[in-house]
Amino acid sequence: MGGYGSGRWSGYTKKATVEERRILDIATLRQRGFLRTGYTGNCRWSDWQGNEVASIGYAATGDAIRLYYTIRRFNQEPEEVSYQVPVVWVPCNFGGQRPLFVCPGTRCGERRVAKLYLPPGGRYFLCRRCHDLSYRSRQEYNKQDALWRRDPEAYLAMLREKLRRLRSRKPAPAPRAISLRDLV
Ligand SMILES: [Zn+2]
Repeated sequence: MGGYGSGRWSGYTKKATVEERRILDIATLRQRGFLRTGYTGNCRWSDWQGNEVASIGYAATGDAIRLYYTIRRFNQEPEEVSYQVPVVWVPCNFGGQRPLFVCPGTRCGERRVAKLYLPPGGRYFLCRRCHDLSYRSRQEYNKQDALWRRDPEAYLAMLREKLRRLRSRKPAPAPRAISLRDLV
């Protein structure tokens, strides 16, 4: 399965795909002792041949983790990114506590989540809800872009059809003239 779950910590992915998303799973971080205050290191993602495809610097500060990494996009200057993700501990049903990230995104209202995602072309690790909106608009763009490349005539026909639909919309009714009778 590509997509969710294909990222592995310092390990192998089942399949390297361009759609691969990097996932930070707080349960894995905890298991490996990465949440201990003062822990610093790297999280790495590898493809199926074991080649490193991505790496992020990582530091646990007690009530948060700090992430720093470089984003490389085709034809653009590399961009350094660094930010904190708060970590909270919530009681479990059967006793004890478990950690959750507080999503650093602005769209979800500080959701508490166990996993954060960095999709291809994304800049930050965010919860799924935060990514969904931008993902959907990108899908729509990709769909149109693919059509344009594959079949420019069909693309133009699609645009013309869109325009025709817009034009054929009934104009809003003009406000009725108020006659003297309406006022008395
Ligand atoms: Zn979010």
